[in-house]
Amino acid sequence: MENNHSTDNFELVKDWIGLIEVFTCPADAETRATLIGHMKQILFELHDFLIKNVGITEEISLKELSNDFTDTIINKFPEKKLAEVVTGVFETIAPHAVNVASPYFVGHMTAAIPFFMVHLKAIVAALNQNVVKLETSKVVSILEKQVISKIHRLIYGLSNAFYQEHVQNTETSLGSFMEGGTTANLTALWVARNTALKPKNGFRGIEKEGLFAAYKAYDIDRCVVMVSRRGHYSFRKSGGILGIGNENIISVDVDQRNKMDIDDLERCLAEINKNKRTKVIAIVGIAGTTETGTVDPLLRIAEICAREKIHFHADAAWGGPTLMSETYKHLLDGIQLADSVTIDGHKQFYMPMSCGMIYFRNPRSLDAISYHANYVNRKGSVDLGIKTLAGSREANSLILDSALKIMGTRGYGMLIEHGIELAYNFSEEIKTRENFQLITEPELNILTYRLCPKNLRDEFETAGSERIIAINDELNELNRTLQQVQREAGNSFVSRTVLEQENIFPGFPPGKIVVLRCVLMNPLTTIDVLKDILDEQEELFEAWRVGNIGGEKIRRDSDRSQVL
Ligand SMILES: *Cc1c(COP(=O)(O)O)cnc(C)c1O
Repeated sequence: MENNHSTDNFELVKDWIGLIEVFTCPADAETRATLIGHMKQILFELHDFLIKNVGITEEISLKELSNDFTDTIINKFPEKKLAEVVTGVFETIAPHAVNVASPYFVGHMTAAIPFFMVHLKAIVAALNQNVVKLETSKVVSILEKQVISKIHRLIYGLSNAFYQEHVQNTETSLGSFMEGGTTANLTALWVARNTALKPKNGFRGIEKEGLFAAYKAYDIDRCVVMVSRRGHYSFRKSGGILGIGNENIISVDVDQRNKMDIDDLERCLAEINKNKRTKVIAIVGIAGTTETGTVDPLLRIAEICAREKIHFHADAAWGGPTLMSETYKHLLDGIQLADSVTIDGHKQFYMPMSCGMIYFRNPRSLDAISYHANYVNRKGSVDLGIKTLAGSREANSLILDSALKIMGTRGYGMLIEHGIELAYNFSEEIKTRENFQLITEPELNILTYRLCPKNLRDEFETAGSERIIAINDELNELNRTLQQVQREAGNSFVSRTVLEQENIFPGFPPGKIVVLRCVLMNPLTTIDVLKDILDEQEELFEAWRVGNIGGEKIRRDSDRSQVL
């Protein structure tokens, strides 16, 4: 069955001339003005539109909404002109999209971006360079090498001579842009795996011969990676993709502050070293965990990796840009010793979706995953596709380079400082409220807390262990519901996750705790906004307690999105 179409829109496909017009820049003033008008709509009206919604409101449920998106036939004839498409997005998509730019949207690592990012993204689209090879990008590939060197220098601070040697060296590579933190972490482990199982004595390396031959050649039957319990799930994905198995991504315990417990790391290593048939290919230190924003003891991990000759990977997808703050860069001390570092551009570099980056201390590390094809990627060229998982990709370096020029490290540093200081002030505010409990103190700009009504908290102090567990279950249910109700009310958004935490009250056994999670990266979020959010949570709880909001109704058909 074909959809209806208005005959107006036949024009585009009526003849060849009509069709190829979409590839040429219109010369007449009127059409140009129309196109500029659309850009204005995108810049200003779309922004205003989004302001009206914060979270996933209940006005129209996801289920109802999805009923409008079930048609699976592509029309033979054009349905709409550009003007109608733009209007259509405004009317049917934007009102139901999420206003991640709202100061009240503090639940995820996606938030407001500077206005100029939209311009930079448009430039990237207009130029449409493909940095997979020099022939489709020329100067942009060179620019990418320069930006990579700038960020490498921010992380590692090596000598002038080092950067002079490598900034435009076609043989070496200090890092690469990619889709996101997930592929960056995968790339780091890919390099670590190939380096650990490199060619030797007739064995031509794991990349060529595969896992089975590699394990035989190295006389092992298992490879493992160690990362704290707060590690991002991209490491488990990588374990699967790299063939070492995601059960071999070993979770190291965390201490009270959610940092990797070094004693437990040593215990795990000693245990594994007993068995000569297991090889540790990497230890990961996290610089800003996704759930709690904490930084692992990077210096200690670096020492251990140096001692054991193991690849040290720092996952700074979130926290990396902290290096631009003179006041707080010390929090990442030790990152300069990492063999590889992941940083996301679409997080605290405030770039539009999506941009990840990987950096290597050793300019030769990426050789472990280099590929050549005859028609592209000639040896010794600047073809950036030689050493990346991705083939074709956009010129994200142009956005980051321009943004760094517009903001300077000072501009970014001020944003970082705002977030960290706001998180601290918010934690103090939470402590003054008798119905809330701070669960994780912020180190960077993420914290977790929960609603813990005074009467239950008082009871907690004196209750026996069985009752404590029962109260905790009750609190978990309460916080789960609270987060949903607040999200669906659409005024503000905090996210929710589950932490395994000990001693949350004296005598509390290790157990699962549902917590509310705030990520404070939006410079328009102030302490007053956060107080409003707590007020709203108290009001919602009060309404719930007197029965005005039923937990059942709320849970009816809402999606159960988890923390990313
Ligand atoms: C966000 C994040 C990732 C994953 O990055 P994506 O860009 O979402 O793929 C990995 N590690 C940490 C610590 C993160 O915060």
